[in-house]
Amino acid sequence: MRYISTRGQAAILDFRGATLAGLASDGGLYVPEHWPRFTTAEIAAMAGLPYVEVAVRVCRPFTGDCLDEAALRDIFTRAYGRFAHAAVVPLKQLDHRHFLAEIFHGPTLAFKDIALQALGLVFERFLAESGAHVTVIGATSGDTGSAAIDALAGRAGVEVYMLHPHGRVSEVQRRQMTTVLDGNIHNIAIEGNFDDAQALVKAMFNDAAFAGRFPLAAVNSINWARLLFQVVYYFTTALSLGAPHRAVAYAVPTGNFGDVFAGYVAAQMGLPIERLVVATNENDILHRALSAGDYSAGQVRPTDSPSMDIQVSSNFERLLFDLAGRDAAALAARMAEFEATKQMRLPEDQRAAAARLFSSARVDAAAMAETMGWALHQAGELLDPHTAIGLAAARRDPGSGPMVTLATAHSAKFPAAVAAATGVTPALPARLADLMNRPERYDVAPAQLQAIEAYIAQRARPR
Ligand SMILES: *Cc1c(COP(=O)(O)O)cnc(C)c1O
Repeated sequence: MRYISTRGQAAILDFRGATLAGLASDGGLYVPEHWPRFTTAEIAAMAGLPYVEVAVRVCRPFTGDCLDEAALRDIFTRAYGRFAHAAVVPLKQLDHRHFLAEIFHGPTLAFKDIALQALGLVFERFLAESGAHVTVIGATSGDTGSAAIDALAGRAGVEVYMLHPHGRVSEVQRRQMTTVLDGNIHNIAIEGNFDDAQALVKAMFNDAAFAGRFPLAAVNSINWARLLFQVVYYFTTALSLGAPHRAVAYAVPTGNFGDVFAGYVAAQMGLPIERLVVATNENDILHRALSAGDYSAGQVRPTDSPSMDIQVSSNFERLLFDLAGRDAAALAARMAEFEATKQMRLPEDQRAAAARLFSSARVDAAAMAETMGWALHQAGELLDPHTAIGLAAARRDPGSGPMVTLATAHSAKFPAAVAAATGVTPALPARLADLMNRPERYDVAPAQLQAIEAYIAQRARPR
């Protein structure tokens, strides 16, 4: 399989190249040259297989000569062997129609573990084969940083410098990062907010002298391999509910459009998906785009579902590419205009084409809290705020077939918001019970490019 950029000007790469590059050099995102498609019989033959075996079958068409079946099986066995549930992604029934797919049973209690645990092993393997090493630089508002640090701790050939806003992530989120004491992990608390941290990371990638000295790499959600590993749980959960002989709908709490794009990929591969309900909080750019064609960014509003507090949804570009008939030149022009004006209109024929698979809903704080109460009192389930946004959108859906809401985080990751909505304070799972007593290591630094570059240069291995 070959990978092309949505903006058409970057080198065509294989799976290894696309994984290590992250962003394409023309500012676009890598996508497969075509969508591989399973027959109904091939999908039916996956029913009842363990998660790892479904993962091997779903991902194999995308990896070409870079990872064969045995390599994929080894990676998935090791990655998902660290999950706390034997099913990896268990399904829970809430009422006659609604189900939760719990994708949060990984080491850091949010679904980002599913992709990043595997991606860490893929990085290590590709780097060992070529004798190379990388300096991963990232900014986090919480979940991505903890998942990336857990996945990359101790991995040969990988150094991690993770920037988080000092005093502005929850204590659970901070400790999940700062109690990882492996020598290749460096946590830097920036005296500023998340936007400052993200701007510093961008500035380092754009500083030619600095980027020339260190082999910089990124593991954010625009990485194609991350999306690929998320396609798998659409297959396992739909198979459990009767696919390929019955179609299943999904509601997905969405920020960067990564998780729900993985559902789109599953549909392109032949999985019968009835509908993908895109659920946003008050930061509703995707709801406005899909319902009214208005893709325009405003100010980020902080909510109780911080991992969805996003105004520009990077992965939406991958859907726009397909909606525009894969015309990279036309999309590049539209994206340049969006980057200049922060506004874009979806042509009505493209919006209507998207609406054949996607619907959307904006869920406010009151509806989120009401849904948490419903789940607790009607089904005995304590939801995290992100999952509650997804379920609220699912319960507004007018259809009648099976509806799966992706449960993206464990409630104990966001105890204050859960307690405020339900009166119940969720407890950390036993494997993390001592988190609050573990020693921490991190440094505080001013939000200044020179200071951060000097910090990294003192420690990182040059090219
Ligand atoms: C990252 C995250 C999301 C949003 O996922 P996207 O792939 O960015 O749409 C939702 N919920 C939680 C808990 C997350 O960590």
